[in-house]
Amino acid sequence: MSEFRTAIVTGSTSGIGLAIAHALARAGHAVMMNGFGDPAEIEAERAAMEIETGAPIAFNGADLSDFGQIDALVAETTEIFGQVDIVVNNAGIQTVSAIEDFPIDRYNQIMAVNMTSAWYLCRATFGPMKARRWGRVINIASAHGLVASPYKSAYVMAKHALVGLTKTLALEGAEAGVTANAICPGYVRTPLVERQIPETAKARGISEDAVIRDVLLAAQPTKRFVHPGQIGALAAFLCSPAASEITGASLPVDGGWTAQ
Ligand code: NAD
Repeated sequence: MSEFRTAIVTGSTSGIGLAIAHALARAGHAVMMNGFGDPAEIEAERAAMEIETGAPIAFNGADLSDFGQIDALVAETTEIFGQVDIVVNNAGIQTVSAIEDFPIDRYNQIMAVNMTSAWYLCRATFGPMKARRWGRVINIASAHGLVASPYKSAYVMAKHALVGLTKTLALEGAEAGVTANAICPGYVRTPLVERQIPETAKARGISEDAVIRDVLLAAQPTKRFVHPGQIGALAAFLCSPAASEITGASLPVDGGWTAQ
């Protein structure tokens, strides 16, 4: 069977997901993009990626907090590309708040998008992957899937859960050629991180410059942000034949954060 597969990358209209979509397309895989944003900008991004890589790229704007829309995402991907071989659960949101003030609606939304949608999308695609005896699940967890920080209770819960899902699916797919791995990035300067700088400043009572220096980069011994393309490159590697024996792993790309 061809080494070129078809992938769904959730939350690929921005940041890390967009970089993963690019990396998979550059490796020759067909990609279904997903996420929110301005329709004209998404279409421009999709068309440019198709021209740059030569891989077929489609887009479906499913809201992953709605199971019905995840079903429609899988159905449309199958209709366009024939099957789903690679699932990258990347979409994620964040709220920074002390637990006693944590808004309930944000807790529910973080759990739905960062955790439950990954379980549901795997539920919808794992059986056919096993039946075809090839599949890749890549869960974009976080350093916060391995260690905690204060004021991120919902996010840290959801990311630890993704690591648990990864291990479980690795065992369920082990004899059927389906691998499941988590990538655990440290801080990557995407819109998700930009938005939490003022929230963290408020929660900790410090300036935004101090958040970047003393909170974000303080966590990373390299004192550098991780680049989105570095996460994309690892995702593409995990889909390559060389990675077929890597499964159930949680792979930090965090400048040494979780080594401490
Ligand atoms: P981002 O805000 O740039 O992108 C998030 C993407 O998710 C966007 O495409 C957005 O439209 C999509 N999305 C959000 N809610 C959605 C919903 N309900 N349905 C469908 N799509 C939805 O963020 P990012 O930094 O690129 O984060 C991507 C992933 O990487 C997240 O899971 C995040 O937790 C994880 N992560 C990020 C960092 C970091 O430092 N940026 C570090 C570790 C892990």
